[in-house]
Amino acid sequence: MQAEHSVEPRGRLAVDPINWLSNPLDWRPIDRVTLLALLVMLVPVISVPSFALLTVLAPGYLRPEWLWPLQALYGLHFVLLVGFMLMAARKRQQVDDWPAYEVFVCASFMVVVLTTGFFTGTHFGEALLLNLVGILIVSALGTIRRLIRTFYVGCGILAAFVLIDLMQVVPAAPMLAKPLVGSDGFFVTGLVLVRVMICLVAIGIARLAMSAVARWVERENLYREMSSIDGLTRVSNRRSFLERGESELSRARRFADSPVACIMVDLDHFKKINDTYGHHAGDQVLVKASGILQQSRRQYDEVGRYGGEEFALLLPNTTATTAALVAERIRSTIAGTAVDVDGHRIHMTASFGVASYPSADIQCLNDLLKAADKALYEAKETGRNKVCVMDAEATAST
Ligand code: GH3
Ligand code: MG
Ligand code: MG
Repeated sequence: MQAEHSVEPRGRLAVDPINWLSNPLDWRPIDRVTLLALLVMLVPVISVPSFALLTVLAPGYLRPEWLWPLQALYGLHFVLLVGFMLMAARKRQQVDDWPAYEVFVCASFMVVVLTTGFFTGTHFGEALLLNLVGILIVSALGTIRRLIRTFYVGCGILAAFVLIDLMQVVPAAPMLAKPLVGSDGFFVTGLVLVRVMICLVAIGIARLAMSAVARWVERENLYREMSSIDGLTRVSNRRSFLERGESELSRARRFADSPVACIMVDLDHFKKINDTYGHHAGDQVLVKASGILQQSRRQYDEVGRYGGEEFALLLPNTTATTAALVAERIRSTIAGTAVDVDGHRIHMTASFGVASYPSADIQCLNDLLKAADKALYEAKETGRNKVCVMDAEATAST
């Protein structure tokens, strides 16, 4: 059995494109909504100059009788957003969260973007892009329950517009006075310019949203790591080791009982190391021992910290005989390794118990662990710094 030294990196994602900003996911909910409100404010802030530019670049293409109500909607949206933000600036001194603020910001974004889409006939163009971007940002910054509520608001508005379309109460894209393609067959330059400008802004926001989502993923990975890795030794913690063990055993059962071996490892007289050299020296010995276990494992083996100075290895597709050889190799490496702490050279040894599935007494993970533990106990009882295999016959070296 060949040991593989390349341990897969586990843990944090390296992506951190906006590291100058503290992670908005760490902010209080009310502050996250203010960031969201600032992003939503881009809709009126960009739309009004866009339409103004359009009337200059492509005069006669927009019907003023629809343009003014839409501009009024943007103006109202802007004023309300600023109002909410000012109120939030005061409210944040007393509360962490203000649900009405978030609902307003999300719902008003939907209303304004969908209304713009309806009036300009771009339901499926920039409006869709903006909606997607909005969903990305809101899902990273907002509360999923409130986001779902906003989604229903959006569905309601879309249904109303579909109804208006079907009943032909208002002509399609009522704000456009002329077709988007000129009589020469080309798109009207001004219109194209404005749409490109809007798309560029949307792409910029999308980039920001992706950064937010990347941070979200980074945080998920960190949580996963914190819940599955032992903080001191960086091997799997007991819970994650047991989870892996359960899944390996059920896999072994599915594949006609292919063998799974378990090695229990316990450092010898570890308490004495702590008592003699101090707890911090004991910690360094633990880190060294777990490093040796990690380096000795193959890619699919699992190393876990089972208790204080007790570790466990799980070796899929491995019989007890092969696992005993692996254990013996690790035993001799540990016995031959010293740790230097505060000018002291600390030597260590460990005892090993080996068991494997399937066997007459071993039907489940618990049985396997118990059998390995029993073999470990025997190694302790019969002199330490040795490997014992379940059933005691196949004891290897001292
Ligand atoms: P044996 O050979 O029978 O295993 O003896 P032992 O001294 O190794 O075993 P015992 O169970 O008596 O003591 C284990 C010690 O490990 C006691 C505990 O304080 C220490 N320990 C547990 N976790 C840690 C840790 O994270 N760091 C340090 N430094 N010590 C720890
Ligand atoms: Mg011990
Ligand atoms: Mg112990």
